[in-house]
Amino acid sequence: MKKYDRSRYGKGGLTPISTTKDWKLLYFQHGRPGLEKSVELKGLCRYCELRKICSISKPESGVWSCAYYKALKRKKTNLYENVIRQLERTEEIVHFDRDICKILAETMNEIVVHFPVKMDDGKVKMLTGYRVQHNNALGPFKGGLRFHPLVDIDEIRALATLMTWKTAITNIPFGGAKGGLQIDPADYSPEEIEKITRRFTFALGNNIGPEYDIAAPDVNTNPQIMAWILDTYISTVTPSERNRCIHVVTGKPIESGGSQGRYKATGQGIAFLIEKWAKDHGISLKDATYIVQGFGNVGSWAARLMKKNGARLIAVEDITGAILNKRGIDADDLADYVKEHGGVLDYPKAQPIDHETFLTTKADIFIPAALENQITAETAELLKVKLVAEGANGPTDPEGDKVLQRREIDVIPDILCNSGGVIVSYFEWLQNKRSEFWDIEEVDRKLYKMIIDAYERVRDTAEKFKVDWRTAAQIVAISRLEMVYRERGIFP
Ligand code: NAD
Repeated sequence: MKKYDRSRYGKGGLTPISTTKDWKLLYFQHGRPGLEKSVELKGLCRYCELRKICSISKPESGVWSCAYYKALKRKKTNLYENVIRQLERTEEIVHFDRDICKILAETMNEIVVHFPVKMDDGKVKMLTGYRVQHNNALGPFKGGLRFHPLVDIDEIRALATLMTWKTAITNIPFGGAKGGLQIDPADYSPEEIEKITRRFTFALGNNIGPEYDIAAPDVNTNPQIMAWILDTYISTVTPSERNRCIHVVTGKPIESGGSQGRYKATGQGIAFLIEKWAKDHGISLKDATYIVQGFGNVGSWAARLMKKNGARLIAVEDITGAILNKRGIDADDLADYVKEHGGVLDYPKAQPIDHETFLTTKADIFIPAALENQITAETAELLKVKLVAEGANGPTDPEGDKVLQRREIDVIPDILCNSGGVIVSYFEWLQNKRSEFWDIEEVDRKLYKMIIDAYERVRDTAEKFKVDWRTAAQIVAISRLEMVYRERGIFP
């Protein structure tokens, strides 16, 4: 099955019968044709962050909608607001230079492009893309590119800011940026995705570049998409420059200049950090259990690499549903299944469970590796784990954070926990610049050293200031940025 084929939603005895453009709902029926008898219909709304096959209704407005999505839309918190609130909290604790915090509380550049793409049916569609460059005091802007229907400028601002903290913590000579296209890839053929990617890259023009702003994969983007960005970018420079620009993106396929180990890097970093946390806490991972939310690049690799240290994966949730098997789920086998079927739904070696059962599954470790704002005050109360290892960016909102702290659940925060991806992106960038090719052992060894050094900096800072790890991670990041601004001053 192709990645973007969502025909999987028709599984489990449910038949897709319709979609609406406005709400992007998929309707399902239990063997009964006709929308007029649809009070019993179940649906999977593409926007619904609870991912349940849920009831849909036709309110007085006459628009079919998903009950969960509507509720969520009302209370969806703004990730950018959360990121700035966190910055303010950290500033209160450490009293960083006020002027420097003023700089860091703003993004440096925000590029919004509207561009046309000719679709397979010959019609032209206008699309909107974003690239937000938060800060480049430590080096070129660096950050992923995501394709998702809920992408908006605030989300991209927040993710760009988190990238600045992440590169600063890990001592990488990069700044922070993020990009996004507000599309649901499921709506487009692979040919259309290629055209969209290339046209977006062209529209960004010189706002990206190998020494200026370097993109990488994120939600719903992959090495193939990076190869199209690379090809489009180098097609716009002079022939003699072409091969000096391949580091305009990282996370490329190996043959196109990618690094060994980049595909698994974020998951590998998570596994290294969990091993270190377990060692520090005298916990044997051989007897440990873990649950994973999101089984894409980050979640599946974290799950597969955790398997190596003997821990048992017992529950997984992705956009298609959730599954449980207390005796253990083989992450490699599940990854093969997801590759073929597009999601964990109907995986035959586990039982289907709902969202709440997933969240209340007793385990030692929870790896959220899907989207932001999944751990709220409400969901944090449900968790029965000792550690949350944040694979996703911004998976915990500030209220959720407070609950985790009160309940003494350890957190390895996103800006540390998922930094393996940008660390190996940095290695890829270096290899491209030096025309080198490192083997997997060298990549893993260097990744281990950099990420564990960052872990120790965060741990020691948490102890020194007696703060939670998220605040400690931010103290480490801002201290480094503050030092650079102090040394260089503010132009003119
Ligand atoms: P991906 O597109 O490969 O996978 C996303 C996964 O999340 C899929 O399994 C999808 O089904 C699932 N998902 C989406 N919405 C969901 C929802 N509402 N509930 C449950 N599951 C849901 O994306 P990815 O690259 O693995 O990125 C996942 C997270 O990790 C994002 O927050 C991303 O910003 C972050 N991240 C990614 C990288 C990287 O190298 N790819 C690096 C650092 C951080």
